[in-house]
Amino acid sequence: MASHIVGYPRMGPKRELKFALESFWDGKSSAEDLEKVATDLRSSIWKQMSEAGIKYIPSNTFSYYDQVLDTTAMLGAVPERYSWTGGEIGLSTYFSMARGNATVPAMEMTKWFDTNYHFIVPELGPSTKFTYASHKAVSEYKEAKALGIDTVPVLVGPVSYLLLSKPAKGVEKSFSLLSLLGSILPIYKEVVAELKAAGASWIQLDEPTLVKDLDAHELAAFSSAYAELESSFSGLNVLIETYFADIPAESYKTLTSLSGVTAYGFDLIRGAKTLDLIRSSFPSGKYLFAGVVDGRNIWADDLAASLSTLHSLEAVAGKDKLVVSTSCSLMHTAVDLVNETKLDDEIKSWLAFAAQKVVEVNALAKALAGQKDEVYFAANAAAQASRRSSPRVTNEEVQKAAAALRGSDHRRSTTVSARLDAQQKKLNLPVLPTTTIGSFPQTVELRRVRREYKAKKITEDEYISAIKEEISKVVKIQEELDIDVLVHGEPERNDMVEYFGEQLSGFAFTANGWVQSYGSRCVKPPIIYGDVSRPNPMTVFWSKMAQSMTPRPMKGMLTGPVTILNWSFVRNDQPRFETCYQIALAIKKEVEDLEAAGIQVIQIDEAALREGLPLRKSEHAFYLDWAVHSFRITNCGVQDTTQIHTHMCYSNFNDIIHSIIDMDADVITIENSRSDEKLLSVFREGVKYGAGIGPGVYDIHSPRIPSTEEIADRVEKMLAVLDTNILWVNPDCGLKTRKYTEVKPALTNMVSATKLIRTQL
Ligand code: GLN
Ligand code: ZN
Repeated sequence: MASHIVGYPRMGPKRELKFALESFWDGKSSAEDLEKVATDLRSSIWKQMSEAGIKYIPSNTFSYYDQVLDTTAMLGAVPERYSWTGGEIGLSTYFSMARGNATVPAMEMTKWFDTNYHFIVPELGPSTKFTYASHKAVSEYKEAKALGIDTVPVLVGPVSYLLLSKPAKGVEKSFSLLSLLGSILPIYKEVVAELKAAGASWIQLDEPTLVKDLDAHELAAFSSAYAELESSFSGLNVLIETYFADIPAESYKTLTSLSGVTAYGFDLIRGAKTLDLIRSSFPSGKYLFAGVVDGRNIWADDLAASLSTLHSLEAVAGKDKLVVSTSCSLMHTAVDLVNETKLDDEIKSWLAFAAQKVVEVNALAKALAGQKDEVYFAANAAAQASRRSSPRVTNEEVQKAAAALRGSDHRRSTTVSARLDAQQKKLNLPVLPTTTIGSFPQTVELRRVRREYKAKKITEDEYISAIKEEISKVVKIQEELDIDVLVHGEPERNDMVEYFGEQLSGFAFTANGWVQSYGSRCVKPPIIYGDVSRPNPMTVFWSKMAQSMTPRPMKGMLTGPVTILNWSFVRNDQPRFETCYQIALAIKKEVEDLEAAGIQVIQIDEAALREGLPLRKSEHAFYLDWAVHSFRITNCGVQDTTQIHTHMCYSNFNDIIHSIIDMDADVITIENSRSDEKLLSVFREGVKYGAGIGPGVYDIHSPRIPSTEEIADRVEKMLAVLDTNILWVNPDCGLKTRKYTEVKPALTNMVSATKLIRTQL
């Protein structure tokens, strides 16, 4: 009876680690206090898995910040600027790399594959010196052993580690990161040897880059790395774990012929085609770790379906070599359903968070071994049936409307240049119009008002008048600054997805469904469980009120369907695009109501469109097609004179520029200032862009106030590649996290710079 968990959330059921970390960083508690919280969390996780009956329990999946940074520490690959002098890497060097310190900035952070988790990108070069400088994997193994639990230590595999790295500053672009394999493998060997000496009989190496599109050279690196490690693996069972997508056939071949490896783990949720590869050939005598329980969602597993998949795999791998597992680490799902006291019982019965998934994995393993818990399986089947037939899930009207969308393109009937002309006649904006992205600083007072209203401590009238006052303050500030297209500041919103989710049907919200995003930061995605509809207008009341306060155009502010989808836990009982189309229809209604209420400029944020891009290139076109289509659905019905804006907060979009043009928005505001003008290079290289565009002129992620000259300089650079009549001037993103003492001078300088340039045109 064999069960395995790829990895487990570190934060704790009530975000204990977050609070311990932040208190330590603030100097309010000691390193010992932090270590105590961490030790307690680890031991409770191990005990929980052990008590559930899990055979292969992971260790070293805990981290104070990030598992890739842990690997950097293990390899001693500390960039020079942190002045590390050798020896075991302590908390201070570790957190300096993660977060920067008074004198040195942090290392770069980037998204972990297509998840919302961010890792710290290793910076490597020919002069990087590697030494074994963090014994964390071994000490965690021993720590669990001391509790009587024999675990499987988990390491980020050497090839994925290098493929996820970037060349350090000053290192030539042509430098091959993979050329460092020979330097890091000796350290992996040392770690493996110590683990063996400590009693480990299994080890797990995560090599998720195997699911990406790799070239022959990269695949060859896997073969040579594992050939090199083979001797150190003797006497150990070695599991190579892959996850997040189908594994390409070539990579599957490479993986299953790696030397010294005895077990392979696959994501059978996102990698449905991988099943065919496994069925068509699986090396004899090797273990198959079948990831059938979804690590990236919150739905209870369909145990009967998983069991039948597993039965079919028994024939492939052999009964004694099949291990039931999760599709990936459970760190990408919420922690424990037990803490959800506000969700109703019916919805709760459809869900499984990490703690419940551990139990599911074990139940499946027991069932395979002939000890099926009939009561548990029956309860699961009943919950699955209730979810399939619940009237709360199905809304026939919505389904019909969404089905009717296919086959049509949903394009506005005139070209963007004709529309911009029509809009300009009405809006009469100066050249280089100025605007902001939507939110204004969210003060403590504002959060208190929202909280008290939610808790019914203040009346609706009191709430409305407080928000109204805030909007009027924000409007006045913008008029004084002489900004051209205003925003209401979004004071009524706590989060750009939650705010809409709470007003749409088909959404549920958790109290503690946190998922780690980076470091101590967690997000709490809404759960989309049913067909989505919009019973009532969501933003019209506030937008209308804001517009009535000023003669200048006031932007209506909405979150787009793709972003709502990508930042939620979505249904697994229908394709993602269907859910997206339903949300698009709901937003479409809102757009039309705003237009009818006299709002002439409507911004539909698609902050997360890029991050939903599938890992495999072969799947990009399909995703982009329905994502862009969903956006167009929201606004294809408005008049030419209504100006549709969209906003995206990332600049790395050169590869999807044609899809962005195909969204056919009238104006796009986009992050730009942190990217060394990578964005502008697209236009320099000849991509034709005829719609309005506002590449951010300063970075709102930093408290720094940009000078007038600096902004003017940026705008001039933009004018060198973009036509004067399409350029907008705006910050990179919303101002929510900034203080007024930063926002006012920064926007003052932005407007002055714009006026200065206008006089020179
Ligand atoms: N309108 C939102 C804001 O200004 C956009 C936020 C975002 O793009 N992440 O806060
Ligand atoms: Zn943004």
